[in-house]
Amino acid sequence: MVGGGFSGTLLAVQLLRRGPSLSIAVVDKGQVPGRGLAYGTRYPCHLLNVPACNMSALPEEPDHFLQWAKANYGRTVQATTFLPRAVYGRYVGSLLEEATGHGCADRLQWIHGEVLSISHEQTGMEVQLADSSTLIAQTLVLSIGNFSPGNSNIPGLGANSMRYVRSLWSATAWRDIPKDGNVLLIGFGLTSIDLAVAIKSEGFAGHIHILSRHGLMPQALSGRRNGGRRQSRRTGTEMPVSIDLSLWVDRDYKEILNVNHRQLNILQQPLAIARHLGRDRRAFGGFGCEARRS
Ligand SMILES: Cc1cc2nc3c(=O)[nH]c(=O)nc-3n(C[C@H](O)[C@H](O)[C@H](O)COP(=O)(O)OP(=O)(O)OC[C@H]3O[C@@H](n4cnc5c(N)ncnc54)[C@H](O)[C@@H]3O)c2cc1C
Repeated sequence: MVGGGFSGTLLAVQLLRRGPSLSIAVVDKGQVPGRGLAYGTRYPCHLLNVPACNMSALPEEPDHFLQWAKANYGRTVQATTFLPRAVYGRYVGSLLEEATGHGCADRLQWIHGEVLSISHEQTGMEVQLADSSTLIAQTLVLSIGNFSPGNSNIPGLGANSMRYVRSLWSATAWRDIPKDGNVLLIGFGLTSIDLAVAIKSEGFAGHIHILSRHGLMPQALSGRRNGGRRQSRRTGTEMPVSIDLSLWVDRDYKEILNVNHRQLNILQQPLAIARHLGRDRRAFGGFGCEARRS
């Protein structure tokens, strides 16, 4: 298995349970099973977006995560609680520990490393690792998660620009943001919220501006059992950050940036865009209709 985040770890758990003759190797860039991108966060303010009652990793035991959380995190956890994602990572890791504890330890090999290439040979699938070692597998599973976002091709902002962070999901992505700086987030989904609450928890006291293509806030979740669309808004305590939505635009950001890219210095002068838009409202009909909601 290439990738031992959520999917890879859960598949390993199921294969250990159901395929007694299988021998499994999981190669992952991380050292600890089950974390991956979503559940490897170190920020307690990064919460699951699904309530505890709907996060069981075992379909045959729908309350499994809820019961685990009560026993291992806190008795006060309720079905509707949104728990930290890091806690969920521990839960997924514990499932693998449990599965290997049932006399299966010698059937699972956890390899900390990075897969560089895969080729189909007569002997099976040949997997080349970054440390130059090779594995041969009869069956290969790619459970490598999400790819990094593409480069936005914003003129003046190359991939190596100090003022442009292409992907938030690296350990150093927001290390250099000045504590009292001005940050412009392009796109207003859960990733933006993740960034906002994380830098806030690190003492960031500057301004966060968010540019939204559709002008919609991410929908808050009410924590109802049994699925369904959840529409209610988060309360202030669930989203402990005040966001200055100076930029609240119903347009594709590329369109906006292309108009004014010469004046633009992302992360330094986000208000330049707002000023520009303010001057030419006819070009951006959606601007202003929901502006400055905070
Ligand atoms: C920020 C965020 C929050 C989320 N929150 C929730 C939530 O609250 N609830 C929910 O149900 N879903 C959530 N999701 C969806 C989530 O992505 C999936 O539920 C699940 O975690 C995806 O699992 P995965 O195994 O595909 O990827 P991941 O868990 O990311 O695992 C991929 C693994 O592959 C490894 N890998 C990649 N390439 C290589 C390589 N070449 N060599 C070796 N290892 C490699 C990585 O190191 C990583 O460990 C969230 C997603 C994100 C991004």
